[in-house]
Amino acid sequence: MATIFTKIVQGEIPSYKVAEDENYYAFLDINPNAKGHTLVIPKQEVNKIFDLDKEIYKGLMDFSYRVAKALEKAIPCERIGMSVIGLEVPHVHVHLIPINFMDDMRFVKKEKLSQEEFLTVAKLISANFQ
Ligand code: 5GP
Repeated sequence: MATIFTKIVQGEIPSYKVAEDENYYAFLDINPNAKGHTLVIPKQEVNKIFDLDKEIYKGLMDFSYRVAKALEKAIPCERIGMSVIGLEVPHVHVHLIPINFMDDMRFVKKEKLSQEEFLTVAKLISANFQ
């Protein structure tokens, strides 16, 4: 069965898209630790990051780098934190999180955004993506 993230890539489930190419897709986390919290995924459906084909893994890091650069420009923050967990959704995803405090990397402190705020943030990051 397709993962929820495959359904997002295929447009069956809506998402706030940040960037996309042939192999990768970046979108806002629906329950963000902080404004701009973005997930970067390979379109290929693989559960664990170190089971990825090495070239896809390297490409994922490269794509994440580009998204992180866009995030830095779009969202005022101390730095961009990066984390890979995957205990909830069995489809590889890199969390990129604009952080100011250590707590911003703990997945307990959550930020509520309106639909309009999600849209504005996604557009802002997208506009800075190169
Ligand atoms: P993990 O698998 O790394 O523990 O966490 C999965 C992440 O995916 C969580 O931060 C959660 O908020 C996010 N997430 C789960 N379902 C959806 C969804 O349908 N849409 C979006 N945009 N994010 C999701």
